[in-house]
Amino acid sequence: DGFPPELAERVARRQSSFGASSVLFYEQPIEMVRASGAYMYDVNGRRYLDVYNNVPSVGHCHPRVVEAIARQVGQLNIHTRYLNRVVEDYAEKLLATFPSPLGNLVMTCTGSESNDLAMRIARIGTGGEGFIVTEAAYHGNTALVTEISPSSLRRREPALFVEVIPAPTAHDDMSVEDSFAASVEQAIAKLRARGLALAGMIVDTIFSSDGIYADPPGFLKTAVDIVHRAGGLFIADEVQPGFGRSGGGLWGFRRHGITPDIVTMGKPMGNGFPMGGVVTRPDLLKMFCEETGYFNTFGGNPVAAAAGRAVLEVIEEEGLIEASRSVGTGFRQALEALRMAHPQIGEVRGAGLFIGLDFIDPEQVAPDSALTTHVINEMKQNGILIGAAGKFGATLKIRPPLCFSSDDAAVFVATLDTILEAR
Ligand code: PMP
Repeated sequence: DGFPPELAERVARRQSSFGASSVLFYEQPIEMVRASGAYMYDVNGRRYLDVYNNVPSVGHCHPRVVEAIARQVGQLNIHTRYLNRVVEDYAEKLLATFPSPLGNLVMTCTGSESNDLAMRIARIGTGGEGFIVTEAAYHGNTALVTEISPSSLRRREPALFVEVIPAPTAHDDMSVEDSFAASVEQAIAKLRARGLALAGMIVDTIFSSDGIYADPPGFLKTAVDIVHRAGGLFIADEVQPGFGRSGGGLWGFRRHGITPDIVTMGKPMGNGFPMGGVVTRPDLLKMFCEETGYFNTFGGNPVAAAAGRAVLEVIEEEGLIEASRSVGTGFRQALEALRMAHPQIGEVRGAGLFIGLDFIDPEQVAPDSALTTHVINEMKQNGILIGAAGKFGATLKIRPPLCFSSDDAAVFVATLDTILEAR
């Protein structure tokens, strides 16, 4: 239906400012002007169901969070070197959600900063250098964290201190748990062969960028034991699964019955207010701080703390963990039923309101990224926002705000059914 000239002009204007770094969704990008709950509205007043964004996790522009931010920004917004009740209250409230011995919090502004700090803490705490990560992982954008984000590296392999392992799937007659553990074992041996001791393994506990691998609960346990036996630390990147999304408590690692040495978080922490954090053992933080100072001008400012506190209150009061579990389970079942009707759907995986749906070419039994792109664009035409994940970009990444309803899920399923039917 052609590219409207005014839109072409807008895109060109944007590119003249942001150059090669400008990334836009869709062949014909959308201009968004406002959002509420699980819906976004474009400049023409068209409504979109948001099945993509996990940052506004308790709902776009949640009035409670908006009010908390507005009130605090009008009262005091300053760096972190003064006593402040809002900040202290928030830290206690957040830390109370973690198992012992995870007793200290460092506040940052992004997930990237959190992972960068976690890597530095792990290196000082272990004396090791090496890290293990999964093959399509993304952990952030600093120089150090880019090396453990294979999905960002377009022209080369990660640095020598990194060993990359496959996403957790069952193969060679081995269970998910055993094959993942075997990969970790091999990675440790390869690092050792290069003269590198292990600092740690870092995984997103729901493997978002790898294509969403949640099951069976507990499969990470053996791998984490191996990491510990090798002298390394386990870093749980909760930037994606954290704050209730996986439906099994506030944190994704809980589903695996493990206690990480370091937990990093970001995205949904402030429901859109930029904030991140690192939670770790006091002994590890002490070793790190004796070695090097850490100051973050904006991390842990009172406005971030006010936003973070409101997010925790809303999750609790609106029962969003239970909602994520129950709406997510029904949603997965409906998608599973759709799979029976459409051979292009390969597998449906997930936990809570984080679901991965693979598209395959049933004849080739191969990932179908072209169909995935087709579905994403058709969904947009039907007023639904959705994205892709996985090594082949052939997995639908279903990750709506946690206020997403069963009716919203039904709309999504019916629309996907129609799109696949017409293909
Ligand atoms: N870890 C994971 C698992 C992520 O998905 C992301 C962002 N996509 C990050 C870390 C980095 O967070 P940020 O963009 O806030 O730096």
